[in-house]
Amino acid sequence: MTKKKLQISIDELRGVGIKNYNLLAQLGIETIEDLLFYFPFRWDDFSNIQLIKNLKPETKATIQGKIFNICNIRSPYRKMVITKAIISDESGSIETVWYNQPYLKQTLKKAIEYRFQGKPKIIKNKLIFQAPSFEPILENNQNNQPLIPVYSVTRGITPKMIRFILKQALQYLPYLDDFLPDWILKKANLLSLDQAITKIHFPKNKLEISQAKKRLAFNELFIFHLNYELKKNLWQKNQARKISKKIPIIKKFLKSLNFKLTNDQKIALWEILSDLDKQNPMNRLLEGDVGSGKTIVAMLACVNVALNNTQAALMVPSEILASQHYQTLIKLVTNYSIAVGLLTNSQSWVNFKITKTGKLKILQNPTKIKKERLIALIKKGNVKVMIGTHSIIQQKINFKNLSLAIIDEQHRFGVEQRSQIINNFCKNKQEKIPHLLSMTATPIPRSLALTLFGDLSLSIIKQLPRGRKKIITKVVTQEKRSQAYAFIKDQINQGRQAFVICPLIEESTVLETKAAEHEYQKLSKQIFPDIEIGLLHGRLKPREKQTVMKGFLNNKIAILVATSVIEVGVDVPNATIMVIEGAERFGLAQLHQFRGRVGRGAYQSFCLLFTDSNSIKTWKRLKYLEASESGFELAQKDLRLRGPGEFLGQRQSGFSNFTIATLDNLELIKTSKQLAEQLTLKDPNLIKNPKLLYKVQKFNKVHFE
Ligand code: ADP
Ligand code: MG
Repeated sequence: MTKKKLQISIDELRGVGIKNYNLLAQLGIETIEDLLFYFPFRWDDFSNIQLIKNLKPETKATIQGKIFNICNIRSPYRKMVITKAIISDESGSIETVWYNQPYLKQTLKKAIEYRFQGKPKIIKNKLIFQAPSFEPILENNQNNQPLIPVYSVTRGITPKMIRFILKQALQYLPYLDDFLPDWILKKANLLSLDQAITKIHFPKNKLEISQAKKRLAFNELFIFHLNYELKKNLWQKNQARKISKKIPIIKKFLKSLNFKLTNDQKIALWEILSDLDKQNPMNRLLEGDVGSGKTIVAMLACVNVALNNTQAALMVPSEILASQHYQTLIKLVTNYSIAVGLLTNSQSWVNFKITKTGKLKILQNPTKIKKERLIALIKKGNVKVMIGTHSIIQQKINFKNLSLAIIDEQHRFGVEQRSQIINNFCKNKQEKIPHLLSMTATPIPRSLALTLFGDLSLSIIKQLPRGRKKIITKVVTQEKRSQAYAFIKDQINQGRQAFVICPLIEESTVLETKAAEHEYQKLSKQIFPDIEIGLLHGRLKPREKQTVMKGFLNNKIAILVATSVIEVGVDVPNATIMVIEGAERFGLAQLHQFRGRVGRGAYQSFCLLFTDSNSIKTWKRLKYLEASESGFELAQKDLRLRGPGEFLGQRQSGFSNFTIATLDNLELIKTSKQLAEQLTLKDPNLIKNPKLLYKVQKFNKVHFE
């Protein structure tokens, strides 16, 4: 009964005809429930009214006055209609403009007073109010709703219309039942759900908004954590293969390396080998700065698995990285009979052959092999370590006895994808599932990592191998640009190579590609016409990427222009310069990761952070990179300066589908996690809390399918 009332279609409400119904449906609002849960993204405070004569440029303000001389004109430059008007109060008047909203000429009535809110700007020496939002002052509700919620709307629907129908929808609130148990509301000091919904749409003051937000954000966070808790419980119920530690042989491997493992590497390796030696499956995150040497740790774990005569798989986000890891591993295992395979979209290789008598023979030089054949060898269990891209989790790939699955650069995959990868690795529904190891170079501080990825154990490699040369880092402003170009030219004449990373454009890979193409044209035509330059972006075909990357690896290409999303883990020791365009758009930890692409060989390396920003804040932030070489230190700083939301990005954290909760509310993230743990301790499968179980299932549908 209760459910049904909330499922009533919104066309029952006054003001929702066919036209509006269709428009609202585009916003995802079809039922009363949808409407109640369609939250404002902002509240305009119309309460603090200023006099027009006191307005200051670039400072948000609310004024109250009447409209005069409203008219529409067509802008000569662009296809745009500009609505101009004068707003006056008792202190004076100000010119006001709106863009492409010609209907305002009819909407705004000269007879009534309005409140306007916006930012005055100086245009051609005149103070102009630019596109302010407005609210009519009506006799009866003067001042009774000073905080006006603003909803994201589509053309044809106004926020006012949403408010109008929401008022009617509130009468259905008694049918809404709260899915959180009372003890949780009490412990976390939360509003009931119906109160929160009322207050988020019709707050009386700012306190009510924050209370409502807290409750609604808690909903999202709590379900997020509950989901992790349930997954963790499920995961731990699984059985994995117990892989015994082959210490003497691993020691021999270590001796054969031309370096000594750092202490942190040793600890991480030990933690991993100890986890593998258990029957419940490992689920571990290995965090380590760029160049901290995660690969060797992962490979030794793979070797240990192979020595137990079972299989390991290492998945990476790019072809190049896959072949590089493959080369490293087959070199490492030359003197041991460990069969290794490589599978990507365009490549399939092995380091062994099966003789006519069925014996395994390790080859000095790896050989190409037909994909089908490789897939068969995986299934038979001949291949012990598989390295590859997404290709190795395809439906048709079936391992005989996969004991360890590793995801390298897991931050590149996003939370949703990660869960998909794990499912595919476990798809065989054999009685045993693989141990899991994820690796990332995003140095997330331990406390944050544990709150966000509560289902993971954590190993951290903090120290870099000894003897790394410091990479000289410089923030390069507009005026110093040509000097920097001369320096790059000089380095290239000495035989070195350079990366140029193009600005990050979060909103669109198409725009990002365009920017990269533009940069490529600029550098090859104007700045370095005599130098061979390559271009790499996400929209190239795998084969094209391969060619460019090969060219760079063999130094046929001296400068590689790339978008920010491209080919992180690659190793090109001869590259000594990392140029980052639009450096201010990146986080410190991310910049540090780019920087880690150079400084891998014997030559002194440089990182040039290009920025055209004049902001002192930006400049100060970038300056930290000149001083610090520690990814963890930079991450801490970044976290403090920009907050976890920007630091991690909503996508990577799995917060991308949240409407109200943000990463910046660490306190609430912690409380909700603790309470989710407490609840699952009492009721591990949510049998006593079916409403919550339903919510978690729904969450999973949205996030992971
Ligand atoms: P990342 O952690 O970024 O994946 P890699 O595993 O690619 O780093 O390591 C970077 C380089 O450092 C590789 O060339 C690797 O051989 C080397 N390396 C790894 N561990 C050590 C060590 N303990 N001492 C010296 N060099 C090391
Ligand atoms: Mg790596």
